Amino acid sequence: MNQPLTSAQLSTLKTALRGRFEELLEEVRQDLVKADDDRAALLSDRVRDLEDESLMDLIADIELADIDRDLEELRDVEAALGRVREGSYGFCLKCEEPIPFERLRAYPAASRCRRCQSLYEKTYAHQPSPSL
Ligand SMILES: [Zn+2]
Repeated sequence: MNQPLTSAQLSTLKTALRGRFEELLEEVRQDLVKADDDRAALLSDRVRDLEDESLMDLIADIELADIDRDLEELRDVEAALGRVREGSYGFCLKCEEPIPFERLRAYPAASRCRRCQSLYEKTYAHQPSPSL
């Protein structure tokens, strides 16, 4: 049985999440600045001054292939920070068991334990052909 996070571990992970959030935000900003798109350039100016929540709404509307991957991780990190606020962070979304600190240290935005994550990936992975 895994142990729930200690408050010291939680604060370590919270710091990591915030750091990652800032990092991703900066990458997205740079992608927006580079993007050859007037709307994107306009948005990147506004992005600088926005609060986190409204920023997520704003960039959710932008479709730029370059930043999809960053945005996806940004959403994961934002969701994890939301769970920190709610007090549900560190517990598997699926089975509600505590997620081991080692796993969270490697990937602070993890929302499932290793077992549920691999089940999830199997379920949603693209199947080349029906396996019947
Ligand atoms: Zn689980």
